[in-house]
Amino acid sequence: MIFLAERGNWNIWTSHEDDLIWSHPDWTARELADVLPRHTVPAIRMHRSRIGRYRPTATPLCQRCGEHPVWTAARDGSRWGLCRQCTLDEREWRVRHRGEHERRDNAIRQAKWKRKHRRSNG
Ligand SMILES: [Zn+2]
Repeated sequence: MIFLAERGNWNIWTSHEDDLIWSHPDWTARELADVLPRHTVPAIRMHRSRIGRYRPTATPLCQRCGEHPVWTAARDGSRWGLCRQCTLDEREWRVRHRGEHERRDNAIRQAKWKRKHRRSNG
């Protein structure tokens, strides 16, 4: 009876249990049942469909504007931690300054090489 009463609490979920579900989005409900002994496999499946497979705060805000979520669908956007708008701005900026940056990088490299070369010759 006590066992059944405990099983009757299937609908009560703690935030720790929610965390466990969000920490393992690739696990099946059956695998989750091993770490969530208070809940049955169908209960886990139902609860996950309600709270979502991924943590709701999993998408951080843009590093530059801090207003919009990071554009996770874009590989460069998610790497830079920028939202869609800032990613597009960044792409344009990079294209516009590409030649200039390469020239400066080469100039610094050449100056360094020349310094080293001069020093080794005495
Ligand atoms: Zn932004």
